[in-house]
Amino acid sequence: MIPALMPNYNRADLAFERGEGAWVWTTDGRRFLDFGSGIATSSIGHGHPHLVKAIAEQAARVMHVSNLYRVPQAETLAARHVAHSFADSVLFCNSGAEANEGMVKAVRKYQAENGHPERYRMICFEGAFHGRTLAMIAATGNAKYLEGFGPPVDGFDHVPFGDMNAVRAAIGPQTAGIMIEPVQGEGGVRPADLRFLRELRTACDEFGLLLALDEVQTGMGRSGKLWAHQWAGIEPDVMSSAKGIGGGFPLGAVLAKEHVAKHLKPGTHGHTYGGNPLACAAGNAVLDVVLAEGFLDGVDRVARKLWFGLEALAHRHPSVIEGVRGAGLLLGIKLVPQVTNGDAQSAAAAEGLLTVAAGMNVLRVAPPLIIGDAEVDAALEMLDRTMRRLTPSTAKVAAK
Ligand SMILES: *Cc1c(COP(=O)(O)O)cnc(C)c1O
Repeated sequence: MIPALMPNYNRADLAFERGEGAWVWTTDGRRFLDFGSGIATSSIGHGHPHLVKAIAEQAARVMHVSNLYRVPQAETLAARHVAHSFADSVLFCNSGAEANEGMVKAVRKYQAENGHPERYRMICFEGAFHGRTLAMIAATGNAKYLEGFGPPVDGFDHVPFGDMNAVRAAIGPQTAGIMIEPVQGEGGVRPADLRFLRELRTACDEFGLLLALDEVQTGMGRSGKLWAHQWAGIEPDVMSSAKGIGGGFPLGAVLAKEHVAKHLKPGTHGHTYGGNPLACAAGNAVLDVVLAEGFLDGVDRVARKLWFGLEALAHRHPSVIEGVRGAGLLLGIKLVPQVTNGDAQSAAAAEGLLTVAAGMNVLRVAPPLIIGDAEVDAALEMLDRTMRRLTPSTAKVAAK
Protein backbone atom coordinates (compact mmCIF):
# COMPACT_ATOMS: atom_id res chain seq x y z
CA MET A 1 0.00 0.00 0.00
CA ILE A 2 1.14 3.53 -0.69
CA PRO A 3 2.58 5.38 2.31
CA ALA A 4 0.53 8.31 3.57
CA LEU A 5 3.49 10.53 2.75
CA MET A 6 3.85 10.51 -1.03
CA PRO A 7 6.71 8.40 -2.32
CA ASN A 8 8.39 11.17 -4.38
CA TYR A 9 11.62 11.19 -2.37
CA ASN A 10 14.40 8.71 -1.79
CA ARG A 11 14.66 9.23 1.94
CA ALA A 12 17.46 7.85 4.08
CA ASP A 13 16.13 5.96 7.08
CA LEU A 14 17.11 8.67 9.55
CA ALA A 15 14.70 10.82 11.58
CA PHE A 16 16.12 13.80 13.43
CA GLU A 17 14.53 15.25 16.53
CA ARG A 18 17.03 17.88 17.63
CA GLY A 19 19.87 20.00 16.34
CA GLU A 20 22.48 22.31 17.80
CA GLY A 21 24.96 24.20 15.66
CA ALA A 22 26.31 21.80 13.05
CA TRP A 23 25.14 18.69 14.92
CA VAL A 24 21.84 16.81 14.76
CA TRP A 25 20.48 13.90 16.80
CA THR A 26 18.15 11.15 15.60
CA THR A 27 15.10 9.96 17.50
CA ASP A 28 17.13 6.88 18.49
CA GLY A 29 19.92 9.00 19.93
CA ARG A 30 22.60 8.89 17.26
CA ARG A 31 24.58 12.07 16.59
CA PHE A 32 25.52 13.31 13.12
CA LEU A 33 27.67 16.18 11.89
CA ASP A 34 25.51 18.02 9.37
CA PHE A 35 27.62 18.94 6.35
CA GLY A 36 24.56 18.99 4.10
CA SER A 37 22.59 21.70 5.94
CA GLY A 38 19.33 20.30 4.58
CA ILE A 39 20.61 21.08 1.07
CA ALA A 40 22.58 24.25 1.82
CA THR A 41 19.67 25.76 3.71
CA SER A 42 20.33 25.66 7.47
CA SER A 43 22.79 28.48 6.88
CA ILE A 44 23.38 29.46 10.49
CA GLY A 45 23.11 25.95 11.87
CA HIS A 46 20.48 24.31 14.02
CA GLY A 47 18.85 25.95 17.00
CA HIS A 48 20.66 29.25 16.58
CA PRO A 49 19.39 31.20 19.61
CA HIS A 50 19.00 34.47 17.71
CA LEU A 51 16.94 32.86 14.93
CA VAL A 52 14.88 30.75 17.34
CA LYS A 53 14.05 33.78 19.45
CA ALA A 54 13.12 35.92 16.43
CA ILE A 55 10.75 33.26 15.10
CA ALA A 56 9.19 32.51 18.48
CA GLU A 57 8.60 36.15 19.30
CA GLN A 58 7.16 36.96 15.88
CA ALA A 59 4.94 33.86 15.95
CA ALA A 60 3.50 35.00 19.25
CA ARG A 61 2.76 38.49 17.88
CA VAL A 62 1.43 37.95 14.36
CA MET A 63 2.46 35.36 11.77
CA HIS A 64 0.51 36.26 8.73
CA VAL A 65 -1.54 39.16 7.44
CA SER A 66 -1.19 38.76 3.60
CA ASN A 67 0.14 41.27 1.14
CA LEU A 68 -3.11 43.23 1.25
CA TYR A 69 -1.37 45.21 4.00
CA ARG A 70 2.01 46.68 4.75
CA VAL A 71 4.44 44.24 6.33
CA PRO A 72 7.06 46.22 8.29
CA GLN A 73 9.31 43.14 8.72
CA ALA A 74 9.39 42.74 4.93
CA GLU A 75 10.06 46.44 4.39
CA THR A 76 13.02 46.23 6.76
CA LEU A 77 14.37 43.03 5.23
CA ALA A 78 14.05 44.41 1.68
CA ALA A 79 15.81 47.64 2.65
CA ARG A 80 18.67 45.68 4.19
CA HIS A 81 19.02 43.51 1.06
CA VAL A 82 19.06 46.65 -1.07
CA ALA A 83 21.73 48.20 1.15
CA HIS A 84 23.95 45.12 0.80
CA SER A 85 23.52 44.15 -2.85
CA PHE A 86 23.26 45.39 -6.44
CA ALA A 87 19.47 45.48 -6.08
CA ASP A 88 17.13 48.45 -5.82
CA SER A 89 14.03 46.47 -4.92
CA VAL A 90 13.09 43.05 -3.54
CA LEU A 91 10.09 40.73 -3.85
CA PHE A 92 9.60 37.92 -1.32
CA CYS A 93 8.21 34.47 -2.00
CA ASN A 94 8.46 31.04 -0.42
CA SER A 95 10.93 28.87 -2.33
CA GLY A 96 13.68 28.77 -4.90
CA ALA A 97 11.53 27.60 -7.79
CA GLU A 98 9.06 30.38 -7.05
CA ALA A 99 11.85 32.95 -6.92
CA ASN A 100 13.04 31.74 -10.34
CA GLU A 101 9.52 31.92 -11.73
CA GLY A 102 9.29 35.51 -10.51
CA MET A 103 12.72 36.26 -11.96
CA VAL A 104 11.84 34.92 -15.42
CA LYS A 105 8.48 36.74 -15.36
CA ALA A 106 10.33 39.95 -14.46
CA VAL A 107 12.73 39.48 -17.39
CA ARG A 108 9.88 38.84 -19.85
CA LYS A 109 7.90 41.79 -18.50
CA TYR A 110 10.89 44.11 -18.84
CA GLN A 111 11.31 43.19 -22.50
CA ALA A 112 7.58 43.50 -23.22
CA GLU A 113 7.34 46.89 -21.51
CA ASN A 114 10.34 48.07 -23.51
CA GLY A 115 8.66 47.32 -26.81
CA HIS A 116 9.94 43.77 -27.25
CA PRO A 117 7.15 41.33 -26.34
CA GLU A 118 8.72 38.91 -28.83
CA ARG A 119 11.77 38.65 -26.58
CA TYR A 120 10.72 36.00 -24.10
CA ARG A 121 13.35 33.28 -24.36
CA MET A 122 16.01 32.63 -21.74
CA ILE A 123 19.39 31.14 -22.52
CA CYS A 124 20.08 28.49 -19.87
CA PHE A 125 22.88 26.01 -19.33
CA GLU A 126 23.36 22.29 -19.52
CA GLY A 127 23.67 20.88 -16.01
CA ALA A 128 21.53 23.65 -14.53
CA PHE A 129 18.95 23.24 -11.80
CA HIS A 130 16.27 25.87 -11.35
CA GLY A 131 13.50 24.02 -9.51
CA ARG A 132 10.52 21.76 -10.07
CA THR A 133 7.62 23.91 -11.24
CA LEU A 134 6.45 23.37 -14.82
CA ALA A 135 8.43 26.33 -16.16
CA MET A 136 11.49 25.63 -14.04
CA ILE A 137 11.82 22.01 -15.16
CA ALA A 138 11.95 23.48 -18.67
CA ALA A 139 14.59 25.99 -17.54
CA THR A 140 16.48 23.11 -15.93
CA GLY A 141 16.21 21.20 -19.17
CA ASN A 142 17.14 17.82 -17.70
CA ALA A 143 15.15 15.19 -19.65
CA LYS A 144 14.77 13.11 -16.47
CA TYR A 145 12.79 15.89 -14.76
CA LEU A 146 10.65 16.69 -17.83
CA GLU A 147 9.53 13.18 -18.66
CA GLY A 148 5.83 12.50 -18.24
CA PHE A 149 4.83 16.08 -17.59
CA GLY A 150 3.62 17.04 -21.06
CA PRO A 151 5.13 19.51 -23.47
CA PRO A 152 7.91 21.51 -21.79
CA VAL A 153 7.08 25.17 -21.19
CA ASP A 154 8.41 27.08 -24.18
CA GLY A 155 11.12 29.70 -23.94
CA PHE A 156 14.29 28.05 -22.61
CA ASP A 157 17.33 27.37 -24.78
CA HIS A 158 20.26 25.37 -23.45
CA VAL A 159 23.93 25.70 -24.27
CA PRO A 160 27.02 24.08 -22.72
CA PHE A 161 28.09 25.62 -19.39
CA GLY A 162 31.05 27.94 -19.85
CA ASP A 163 30.90 28.04 -23.65
CA MET A 164 30.80 31.68 -24.71
CA ASN A 165 30.74 30.89 -28.42
CA ALA A 166 27.65 28.75 -27.90
CA VAL A 167 26.01 31.54 -25.89
CA ARG A 168 26.63 34.10 -28.61
CA ALA A 169 25.40 31.67 -31.28
CA ALA A 170 22.20 31.06 -29.29
CA ILE A 171 21.29 34.75 -28.94
CA GLY A 172 18.47 35.54 -31.36
CA PRO A 173 15.71 38.11 -31.91
CA GLN A 174 13.54 36.34 -29.30
CA THR A 175 16.18 36.17 -26.58
CA ALA A 176 15.21 38.08 -23.44
CA GLY A 177 17.97 37.15 -21.05
CA ILE A 178 20.56 34.73 -19.76
CA MET A 179 19.92 32.67 -16.64
CA ILE A 180 22.78 31.03 -14.78
CA GLU A 181 23.89 29.72 -11.40
CA PRO A 182 27.34 31.15 -10.50
CA VAL A 183 28.07 27.66 -9.18
CA GLN A 184 25.85 24.87 -10.49
CA GLY A 185 24.71 23.17 -7.30
CA GLU A 186 22.47 20.18 -8.00
CA GLY A 187 24.18 19.75 -11.37
CA GLY A 188 27.47 18.80 -9.72
CA VAL A 189 28.94 21.74 -7.76
CA ARG A 190 30.43 23.17 -10.93
CA PRO A 191 31.64 26.78 -10.63
CA ALA A 192 31.38 29.08 -13.61
CA ASP A 193 34.62 30.72 -14.60
CA LEU A 194 34.61 34.26 -13.23
CA ARG A 195 35.71 35.43 -16.67
CA PHE A 196 32.73 33.61 -18.22
CA LEU A 197 30.36 35.46 -15.88
CA ARG A 198 31.94 38.77 -16.91
CA GLU A 199 31.59 37.85 -20.59
CA LEU A 200 27.91 37.04 -20.05
CA ARG A 201 27.47 40.50 -18.54
CA THR A 202 29.13 42.04 -21.59
CA ALA A 203 27.02 40.02 -24.03
CA CYS A 204 23.82 41.03 -22.18
CA ASP A 205 24.78 44.70 -22.44
CA GLU A 206 25.66 44.31 -26.11
CA PHE A 207 22.36 42.69 -27.11
CA GLY A 208 19.92 44.36 -24.71
CA LEU A 209 19.44 41.19 -22.66
CA LEU A 210 19.03 40.87 -18.91
CA LEU A 211 21.46 38.88 -16.81
CA ALA A 212 19.42 36.76 -14.39
CA LEU A 213 21.40 34.95 -11.73
CA ASP A 214 20.03 31.99 -9.81
CA GLU A 215 21.75 32.37 -6.43
CA VAL A 216 19.26 30.17 -4.61
CA GLN A 217 22.06 27.89 -3.46
CA THR A 218 25.16 30.07 -3.79
CA GLY A 219 23.85 33.14 -2.00
CA MET A 220 23.56 34.39 1.57
CA GLY A 221 27.23 33.96 2.35
CA ARG A 222 27.75 30.43 1.15
CA SER A 223 30.52 31.41 -1.26
CA GLY A 224 32.36 33.49 1.34
CA LYS A 225 30.83 36.68 -0.02
CA LEU A 226 27.18 37.59 0.54
CA TRP A 227 26.45 36.79 -3.14
CA ALA A 228 28.65 34.56 -5.28
CA HIS A 229 28.62 36.90 -8.30
CA GLN A 230 30.53 39.44 -6.21
CA TRP A 231 33.65 37.31 -6.76
CA ALA A 232 33.37 38.15 -10.48
CA GLY A 233 32.95 41.86 -9.83
CA ILE A 234 29.75 41.99 -11.89
CA GLU A 235 26.15 42.92 -11.16
CA PRO A 236 23.14 41.08 -12.55
CA ASP A 237 19.92 42.85 -13.53
CA VAL A 238 17.90 40.44 -11.46
CA MET A 239 18.68 37.58 -9.08
CA SER A 240 16.80 34.84 -7.28
CA SER A 241 17.53 33.71 -3.75
CA ALA A 242 16.08 31.17 -1.32
CA LYS A 243 17.56 28.21 0.64
CA GLY A 244 19.95 29.92 3.10
CA ILE A 245 18.13 33.26 3.44
CA GLY A 246 15.56 31.90 5.90
CA GLY A 247 18.00 29.69 7.80
CA GLY A 248 15.55 26.78 7.41
CA PHE A 249 12.37 28.79 7.42
CA PRO A 250 10.84 28.78 3.91
CA LEU A 251 11.69 32.09 2.25
CA GLY A 252 12.59 33.08 -1.29
CA ALA A 253 13.34 36.41 -2.90
CA VAL A 254 13.74 38.15 -6.23
CA LEU A 255 16.25 40.98 -6.06
CA ALA A 256 16.23 43.41 -8.98
CA LYS A 257 17.53 46.64 -10.36
CA GLU A 258 14.98 49.42 -10.70
CA HIS A 259 14.72 49.10 -14.50
CA VAL A 260 13.44 45.55 -13.98
CA ALA A 261 11.49 45.90 -10.74
CA LYS A 262 9.48 48.94 -11.81
CA HIS A 263 7.46 46.88 -14.28
CA LEU A 264 6.10 44.51 -11.62
CA LYS A 265 3.12 46.71 -10.90
CA PRO A 266 0.11 45.67 -8.80
CA GLY A 267 -1.61 42.71 -10.38
CA THR A 268 1.40 41.45 -12.37
CA HIS A 269 2.73 38.96 -9.83
CA GLY A 270 2.19 37.97 -6.23
CA HIS A 271 1.91 35.47 -3.42
CA THR A 272 -0.47 34.89 -0.54
CA TYR A 273 2.16 34.46 2.13
CA GLY A 274 5.40 35.42 0.40
CA GLY A 275 7.26 37.72 2.77
CA ASN A 276 4.88 37.36 5.68
CA PRO A 277 5.91 38.67 9.12
CA LEU A 278 7.12 35.28 10.36
CA ALA A 279 9.25 34.48 7.30
CA CYS A 280 10.74 37.97 7.29
CA ALA A 281 11.52 37.79 11.01
CA ALA A 282 13.54 34.69 10.17
CA GLY A 283 15.16 36.42 7.19
CA ASN A 284 16.13 39.43 9.30
CA ALA A 285 17.60 37.22 12.03
CA VAL A 286 19.72 35.30 9.51
CA LEU A 287 20.91 38.57 8.02
CA ASP A 288 21.86 39.86 11.50
CA VAL A 289 24.21 36.90 11.85
CA VAL A 290 25.63 36.87 8.32
CA LEU A 291 26.22 40.63 8.18
CA ALA A 292 27.85 40.78 11.61
CA GLU A 293 31.37 42.20 11.53
CA GLY A 294 33.85 39.55 10.41
CA PHE A 295 31.32 36.76 9.81
CA LEU A 296 31.86 36.42 6.05
CA ASP A 297 35.63 36.66 6.48
CA GLY A 298 35.28 33.76 8.89
CA VAL A 299 33.29 31.77 6.32
CA ASP A 300 35.99 32.42 3.75
CA ARG A 301 38.74 31.36 6.16
CA VAL A 302 37.07 28.14 7.31
CA ALA A 303 36.09 27.36 3.69
CA ARG A 304 39.74 27.54 2.65
CA LYS A 305 40.70 25.21 5.49
CA LEU A 306 38.03 22.75 4.37
CA TRP A 307 39.14 23.07 0.75
CA PHE A 308 42.79 22.31 1.60
CA GLY A 309 41.67 19.39 3.75
CA LEU A 310 39.60 17.97 0.90
CA GLU A 311 42.50 18.45 -1.53
CA ALA A 312 44.71 16.46 0.84
CA LEU A 313 41.98 13.83 1.11
CA ALA A 314 41.84 13.57 -2.68
CA HIS A 315 45.60 13.11 -2.69
CA ARG A 316 45.40 10.29 -0.15
CA HIS A 317 42.55 8.52 -1.95
CA PRO A 318 43.18 8.76 -5.70
CA SER A 319 41.36 5.47 -6.29
CA VAL A 320 38.12 7.04 -4.97
CA ILE A 321 38.38 10.80 -5.57
CA GLU A 322 38.93 12.42 -8.95
CA GLY A 323 39.02 15.99 -7.70
CA VAL A 324 37.57 18.73 -5.54
CA ARG A 325 35.61 21.73 -6.81
CA GLY A 326 33.20 24.44 -5.78
CA ALA A 327 33.38 27.75 -3.98
CA GLY A 328 33.33 28.76 -0.34
CA LEU A 329 31.30 26.31 1.70
CA LEU A 330 29.67 24.77 -1.37
CA LEU A 331 32.21 22.10 -2.23
CA GLY A 332 32.05 18.95 -4.29
CA ILE A 333 34.09 15.78 -4.13
CA LYS A 334 34.07 14.31 -7.62
CA LEU A 335 34.28 10.56 -7.38
CA VAL A 336 35.79 8.08 -9.80
CA PRO A 337 33.21 6.29 -11.99
CA GLN A 338 33.61 3.04 -10.00
CA VAL A 339 32.24 4.70 -6.84
CA THR A 340 28.75 6.22 -6.91
CA ASN A 341 27.88 9.36 -5.01
CA GLY A 342 24.94 7.47 -3.47
CA ASP A 343 27.31 4.89 -2.00
CA ALA A 344 29.60 7.69 -0.83
CA GLN A 345 26.73 9.50 0.85
CA SER A 346 25.69 6.31 2.68
CA ALA A 347 29.27 5.55 3.69
CA ALA A 348 29.70 9.07 5.05
CA ALA A 349 26.46 8.76 7.01
CA ALA A 350 27.72 5.46 8.44
CA GLU A 351 30.71 7.47 9.72
CA GLY A 352 28.39 10.06 11.25
CA LEU A 353 28.61 12.71 8.54
CA LEU A 354 25.67 14.07 6.55
CA THR A 355 26.41 15.15 2.97
CA VAL A 356 24.30 15.53 -0.17
CA ALA A 357 24.76 13.83 -3.52
CA ALA A 358 24.90 16.11 -6.58
CA GLY A 359 25.00 15.50 -10.33
CA MET A 360 28.04 14.25 -12.26
CA ASN A 361 28.83 11.75 -9.50
CA VAL A 362 29.75 14.43 -6.99
CA LEU A 363 29.41 14.25 -3.22
CA ARG A 364 28.37 17.71 -2.06
CA VAL A 365 29.70 19.21 1.16
CA ALA A 366 27.74 22.27 2.29
CA PRO A 367 28.01 22.76 6.05
CA PRO A 368 26.28 25.50 8.01
CA LEU A 369 28.20 28.77 7.71
CA ILE A 370 28.76 28.89 11.48
CA ILE A 371 31.20 25.96 11.59
CA GLY A 372 34.65 26.39 13.08
CA ASP A 373 37.97 24.58 12.84
CA ALA A 374 36.83 21.76 15.13
CA GLU A 375 33.91 20.83 12.88
CA VAL A 376 36.13 20.94 9.79
CA ASP A 377 38.68 18.65 11.45
CA ALA A 378 35.95 16.24 12.58
CA ALA A 379 34.39 16.16 9.10
CA LEU A 380 37.74 15.55 7.42
CA GLU A 381 38.43 12.62 9.74
CA MET A 382 35.00 11.15 9.00
CA LEU A 383 35.57 11.64 5.27
CA ASP A 384 38.94 9.96 5.49
CA ARG A 385 37.28 6.90 7.05
CA THR A 386 34.52 7.17 4.43
CA MET A 387 37.02 7.08 1.59
CA ARG A 388 38.78 4.07 3.14
CA ARG A 389 35.42 2.28 3.21
CA LEU A 390 34.95 3.13 -0.46
CA THR A 391 38.42 2.15 -1.68
CA PRO A 392 37.91 -0.56 -4.29
CA SER A 393 39.23 -3.91 -3.05
CA THR A 394 41.49 -4.25 -6.12
CA ALA A 395 43.16 -0.97 -5.18
CA LYS A 396 43.60 -2.27 -1.63
CA VAL A 397 45.40 -5.30 -3.00
CA ALA A 398 47.50 -3.14 -5.31
CA ALA A 399 48.47 -0.88 -2.42
CA LYS A 400 49.86 -3.77 -0.36
C1 LIG B 1 17.31 24.29 -4.72
C2 LIG B 1 17.42 25.15 -5.92
C3 LIG B 1 16.29 25.65 -6.59
C4 LIG B 1 14.89 25.27 -6.19
O1 LIG B 1 14.58 25.69 -4.91
P1 LIG B 1 13.27 25.10 -4.17
O2 LIG B 1 13.21 25.88 -2.90
O3 LIG B 1 13.51 23.65 -3.99
O4 LIG B 1 12.12 25.36 -5.07
C5 LIG B 1 16.50 26.50 -7.65
N1 LIG B 1 17.73 26.84 -8.06
C6 LIG B 1 18.83 26.39 -7.44
C7 LIG B 1 20.16 26.84 -7.91
C8 LIG B 1 18.72 25.53 -6.36
O5 LIG B 1 19.82 25.07 -5.76
